Amino acid sequence: MGDENCSKCGAELPSNSKFCLNCGVKVEKETRSEREPIHEVFRFLFSKNLIIAAILFGILFIWIGAIVLTFSTDLTGYRAAQTLNSLGFFITGVFLIGGGIVNDAMDKYVRVGMIVIGVYMITSVLALTSLLIH
Ligand SMILES: [Zn+2]
Repeated sequence: MGDENCSKCGAELPSNSKFCLNCGVKVEKETRSEREPIHEVFRFLFSKNLIIAAILFGILFIWIGAIVLTFSTDLTGYRAAQTLNSLGFFITGVFLIGGGIVNDAMDKYVRVGMIVIGVYMITSVLALTSLLIH
């Protein structure tokens, strides 16, 4: 005896069935409610609106950094520009990776793209920073 009904034809489904016996449609299992609380925190932190806000914030840092670099004539200005750029890349990168991992409602190719770009951004920040330290 089942406690669910098919979403397509409405026929009663035997418990734990993967497909409807009447019309053959795949049964969607509700797994979201079984998620761990820590996952919910990450889902909130990397929700779409916060990702967009963080990316815009990061791009703003990169943009200001580029302007500072354009008008800087000494090492202090160059360092300030570099710091702004690194911060922007880091913030954007972290939220692209987090968003790509957590937002399982999005298209998987978009998510993979976000993670790849995020990793690229953080890697280039680390590479550039180590270059400046040496
Ligand atoms: Zn059905």
